[in-house]
Amino acid sequence: KFNTDLGQHILKNPLVAQGIVDKANIRPSDIVLEVGPGTGNLTVRILEQARKVVAVEMDPRMAAELTKRVHGTPGEKKLEILLGDFMKTDLPYFDICISNTPYQISSPLVFKLINQPQPPRVSILMFQREFALRLLARPGDSLYCRLSANVQMWANVTHIMKVGRNNFRPPPQVESSVVRIEIKQPRPQVDFNEWDGLLRIVFVRKNRTISAGFKSTTVLQILEKNYKTWLAMTNQPVDNSASLLDVVKDKIQTVLRETELSDKRAGKCDQNDFLKLLYAFHQVGIHFS
Ligand code: SAM
Repeated sequence: KFNTDLGQHILKNPLVAQGIVDKANIRPSDIVLEVGPGTGNLTVRILEQARKVVAVEMDPRMAAELTKRVHGTPGEKKLEILLGDFMKTDLPYFDICISNTPYQISSPLVFKLINQPQPPRVSILMFQREFALRLLARPGDSLYCRLSANVQMWANVTHIMKVGRNNFRPPPQVESSVVRIEIKQPRPQVDFNEWDGLLRIVFVRKNRTISAGFKSTTVLQILEKNYKTWLAMTNQPVDNSASLLDVVKDKIQTVLRETELSDKRAGKCDQNDFLKLLYAFHQVGIHFS
């Protein structure tokens, strides 16, 4: 009956469902976005508290079941179902996001929320335990990775509760956790793609030194190309007396030396370290997107 390829694991424990909805502290004026409502175990509880619920569901059978479930109830008029893939759906304004997330889209879902023009006040999201722990991991933790550093730049993440496999039907392979994500407002004045681009390089091997990440030929070629674009955009002439690649290599060495981050490992660097690196690179015209 359930399509586990779509991550259909229905939350059958009513206490957990109510707990998730209550953690959102919904105000009567709030519009709530739910991703993947399924048969509506969270949806009916959200409808009791919110002004409006917009539910994005990909499976038409689930959408039909939910429509049937709310039919004739006071919640019916407050519910709008958008049939389709959440990742391809243009979202209306919403105050809160709640989701027992289809695990396949965990990471893109988080970044879609972060990059909304008006991000939600709070998001209460169920993820696979390991994904949740990655969101929460701090520098030096074994699970600290690009995802941790990236999400924590734009949002504060807290752990709310563990949810065992047996609370779902059918039970997934692994345990789950519910987290709260509060996107920082105002947004940090950093370009998302620049930040992400730097993290992609230094986290290729998080236990290797930062300088090692900048020795890759592919990386150097991309940075050379970006540098050329930057020169053109800022109307600066290309110096033909030296190869552009050597100029870029030189700049990288200078930045790594002056920031004193050359021998540090990404897995041990915090946000300030990466920001320091990014600013120093920008000072010398090196860009990551
Ligand atoms: N909210 C329900 C619950 O807690 O019982 C169901 C949660 S189930 C883990 C995930 C739901 O997301 C399923 O109903 C599935 O059909 C839907 N889904 C999967 N991928 C989706 C996508 N890309 N966009 C929208 N919905 C999706």
